[in-house]
Amino acid sequence: MKSIQESVSIIKPESFQLVEKILSHAEFNAYLQAIRAVRKTTFRVNTIKSDKVTVVKILRESGISVSDFPLIENAFIVNNATDNQIMKNECFTKGYIYLQSLSSQIPPVILEPKPGDYILDLAAAPGSKTTQMAALMKNTGTIDAVEPDFIRKERLEYNINQQEAAIVSVFQARGEKFLLDVENKYDKILLDAPCSGEGRFNINDKSSYFAYRLTEIPKFNRLQVKLLTSALKAVKPGGTVVYSTCTLNTMENEQVLHEVCNQFQCEIVPLPKGYKELNEITQCKSSVDGVSMRKDIHNAIKIVPSQRIEGFFVSKIVKKSV
Ligand code: SAM
Repeated sequence: MKSIQESVSIIKPESFQLVEKILSHAEFNAYLQAIRAVRKTTFRVNTIKSDKVTVVKILRESGISVSDFPLIENAFIVNNATDNQIMKNECFTKGYIYLQSLSSQIPPVILEPKPGDYILDLAAAPGSKTTQMAALMKNTGTIDAVEPDFIRKERLEYNINQQEAAIVSVFQARGEKFLLDVENKYDKILLDAPCSGEGRFNINDKSSYFAYRLTEIPKFNRLQVKLLTSALKAVKPGGTVVYSTCTLNTMENEQVLHEVCNQFQCEIVPLPKGYKELNEITQCKSSVDGVSMRKDIHNAIKIVPSQRIEGFFVSKIVKKSV
């Protein structure tokens, strides 16, 4: 273990403190290995502009081979080309595909947006999941996409235009303010929350780890609680909220769900079977600092990063009809 730890020593040791606490010895070892991983490029077919048969054919004619990822329709892993090579291919330049990690593609699939739905994407930029939802909805219905940061909002708009996701309206706002007086309005809400990013650390990408500070975790927790509370208020009775993060610690995951869900008539529901069966899954904690978490916390999934997939937390909450 020590030699692996030394090999990721360019990352501040405090960055691993919370993760080491929640993982088994073997899982933590795998986590440290994943931080050095050079992952294969992955993408999603943008079914608004193309389809997987066409995309696979164009790539094959360019000498690029891909494999599918059976859990997610239209998700592909590139076997023999880099991000840069893919970005020069017409599939990319014409917006037929969108480069997106596998784990990032899970929350929209779990939300199950359908044509005609009224959806809110509460932390939307750069729009990977917003545009994925528009494609799942066959560009029919409405998506409100909220992002407070101006530069990130510009990126969101670029991606929406590039992928021709015509049903999206963009709002530059903080999610909790945007929803201040909103109740029982949306069919489904995605909250892919701002977080500390422990699932994304990679020594080949300084931006994935340099901003991490232990002191920021409680601040993320307070913001996530505010956003999830607003989301559960704003979704219709019987509607669904998906809460996801790309971090692993309990304060930003289990504890947020426990605190917020206890204020509402709602249930954290099981995800389709295949997700629980991923090799990378670790159990959510049933007790944190002596406090027992809600029993349905175990229906959420926590993915430990590996050679093929980034770390992620995904949960699906259904607000009960009154
Ligand atoms: N869902 C996005 C995607 O798949 O492309 C990624 C979202 S990223 C994890 C979190 C986003 O939340 C960032 O763009 C960040 O600027 C934004 N954010 C930060 N504070 C926020 C707030 N108070 N309300 C809404 N969004 C916020």
